[in-house]
Amino acid sequence: MKKTALITGIIGQDGPYLAKMLLEKDYKVYGLIRRYTNPNFSNLDYLGIADKIEYVSGDMTDENSLTNIIKNVNPNEVYNLAAQSFVGASWDQAKLTTEINALGVLYLLNAIKNFTPNAKFYQASTSEMFGNSHKAGIQTEETPFHPRSPYAIAKLYAYWMTINFKESYGMFCANGILFNHESPIRGIEFVTRKITDGVARIKLGLANEIRLGNLDSKRDWGFAGDYVEAMWLMLQQEKPDNYIVSTGETHSIRDFLDIAFKHAGINDWKKYVKLDPRFKRPAELFTLQGKSDKARKKLGWKPKVKFEELVKMMMDADMERLIKK
Ligand code: NAP
Repeated sequence: MKKTALITGIIGQDGPYLAKMLLEKDYKVYGLIRRYTNPNFSNLDYLGIADKIEYVSGDMTDENSLTNIIKNVNPNEVYNLAAQSFVGASWDQAKLTTEINALGVLYLLNAIKNFTPNAKFYQASTSEMFGNSHKAGIQTEETPFHPRSPYAIAKLYAYWMTINFKESYGMFCANGILFNHESPIRGIEFVTRKITDGVARIKLGLANEIRLGNLDSKRDWGFAGDYVEAMWLMLQQEKPDNYIVSTGETHSIRDFLDIAFKHAGINDWKKYVKLDPRFKRPAELFTLQGKSDKARKKLGWKPKVKFEELVKMMMDADMERLIKK
């Protein structure tokens, strides 16, 4: 019989990549979406799978809807990718971020415990939970957390609740602590996509500047298509555990800009980039760099797409998108 997976956050960035991989493995894939007046399936369309998903309507802030979905779908695996995922917005919408990213996870775990206790659960945890603990060196699963935003604090609650359900009820609950990962379908407000979309617009004469907050922040950037494989592998293990998923390399926003502009044939890019304090975080996070040895050893996972290839892939996709418009 086909395995059944429920993915929350199906129309975001990771949801479509994960769904595509699971469909290729012959899963039946259910995707949770909120109710919209005009739903946007463009990310699923980009990967050619919008009509291959069984959609179920619910909301992470509505416990009843999650309970009914779990009861009706009866999934073998649940991947909780839904979140208010933009760190910058979490200061302005801290309560909503907490309701979705923290309490929503509690509701989902409760529904699984009560109706499908054998389902395996994946929680999308994040390197943002480490905050600036890079000062103590490269981050591992043992590095203490010091979250620096309402987003990261809510995610830390969900991280511990996931562990608590495993320890209290013997459920299969795993946390993937994923470092930044990008793709051509990354949300447009995130700095990487803002850059590739902005550079493509400058190249095509549709814009003349990109406004950014901090060029010196460093991140460990990988490709979303590689990272969803690690999520799946975590749920195929005999025992649930928590794993860092990262490339182990860091690059600054300046490095990202350099590759993106050069790929568009623009060498002197500084005149196009304007610093704008509105895009600075109230509590800045300077460097994230993860050590994913545990995932590489135990899951047999490793990232395939390198940083420069990732930037060029995103640039090519944005150029194509704008030219087609
Ligand atoms: P994303 O593109 O922002 O997708 C998040 C999805 O969650 C969206 O489809 C969104 O749907 C949905 N969602 C938001 N609020 C909801 C609610 N109340 N009920 C139901 N669905 C809701 O994020 P992503 O990049 O794919 O990331 C996937 C997960 O991994 C997120 O939890 C994120 O926090 C986490 N993560 C991401 C990264 C990264 O670098 N990408 C790194 C570490 C962890 P709408 O369109 O309706 O808003």
